[in-house]
Amino acid sequence: MSYFVYENWRADNKAKIHKGSCSFCNYGKGIHVQPSSTNGKWSKPFASLEEAMKYAKSTGRKVSLCNFCQK
Ligand SMILES: [Zn+2]
Repeated sequence: MSYFVYENWRADNKAKIHKGSCSFCNYGKGIHVQPSSTNGKWSKPFASLEEAMKYAKSTGRKVSLCNFCQK
């Protein structure tokens, strides 16, 4: 299991934690092919939720869990 953090600095300034298998995450590729990091960026993969959480907090953004894959 891998976890990724998506930092969104456009819409809501959040760091959202996803599982790699989440369809929104797609192992850090997201749902769109994004040519730039205009809206945000994916982190590197993390081995555990704890590590992902630590990274998300370190960004200084509001941390949230994806309500699609983190139920
Ligand atoms: Zn997700």
